[in-house]
Amino acid sequence: MMIEISAADRVFILTGAGISAESGIPTFRGAGGIWRTYRVEEVASPHAWQRDPAMVWEFYSMRRRAAGAAKPNPGHFALAALESKLGERLFLCTQNVDNLHEQAGSRRAVHMHGELFKSRCDTCRRPPFDDSRTYEPRAEIPRCECGGQIRPHICWFGEVPYDLDRIFQALSDCTVFLAVGTSGVVEPAASFVARARGRARTYYVGPEEPANASAFTKSFLGKSGGLLPNLFDCK
Ligand code: NAD
Repeated sequence: MMIEISAADRVFILTGAGISAESGIPTFRGAGGIWRTYRVEEVASPHAWQRDPAMVWEFYSMRRRAAGAAKPNPGHFALAALESKLGERLFLCTQNVDNLHEQAGSRRAVHMHGELFKSRCDTCRRPPFDDSRTYEPRAEIPRCECGGQIRPHICWFGEVPYDLDRIFQALSDCTVFLAVGTSGVVEPAASFVARARGRARTYYVGPEEPANASAFTKSFLGKSGGLLPNLFDCK
C-alpha cells in the first residue's frame, strides 16, 4: 500500500530523530541515545546555560562534530523529491536540529526545535546566524556586540518551539498528515496528529508504533530510509 496524494491534497510531514538514525545520528531515547549519556538538565536548558555555558557549548560542539560528518539517507532524499513535486502543497516540519533535510535538497524545512549549525545572542534580538564553530572544554564564551553571550540556536527544555503559528496554520490546512521516526511523546509535536485528524488522513512511518499510535489511520512499520522512497503515489 502507498500514500495516495491527489492534486487537491495538502501534505504536512513531521520528522523526528528516527529519520536521521540511518545517517548515524543517535536518536533521543534509543540504545546509544544521547540523552542516556548526558543529563538533559545539565546541557539543554536555560538553567544549564546560566550555570555553566562552557559545558553547554561542549555538548553542542560534540553534536556539531557528529552531525557535521553525517550525510542524508534515502528517507531525506525521498522527502526532498516530494517537495519538488508538490511545492507549496508540502509543509515539512522537523524536530531535528541537524541539516540533513537541507543537504538532501529540501528548501523549506521548518526547524521547530532550532538548528545545530546556527547560533544567536542570549540577550538581544539579532537574528540567528550560520555558525559551525566548535569549542574546546572550558573555552571562553563568544560575545555579541551588545555584550550578551552567543548561545546555540536550539529550543531547550522549558523554551517555546519556533514557528508555531505557521505550523498550526499548516496543520489546519492539511489533508494528509505523515509523522516519520518520532516517538510521539515530546510535546507539542506529539499532539500535531490530533489536530490534523478528522480532516486529514494520518500516517506513521517507523520501526515501531509510536506512543500516540491510536491517532493514526495507518502505520507503515519499518525504517524510513527503506520505506519513504516508495511510499508516495502522486496523482
Ligand atoms: P525519539 O528518540 O524520542 O524517537 C525516535 C523514534 O525514531 C523512535 O520512535 C524510533 O522507533 C524511531 N526510529 C528509530 N530508527 C528509525 C529509522 N531507521 N527510521 C524511522 N524511525 C526510526 O525522537 P523524537 O520523537 O524526534 O524526539 C526527540 C527530540 O530530540 C526531538 O525534539 C529532537 O529535537 C531531538 N533530537 C534531534 C536529533 C537530530 O537532530 N537528528 C537527534 C536526537 C534528538
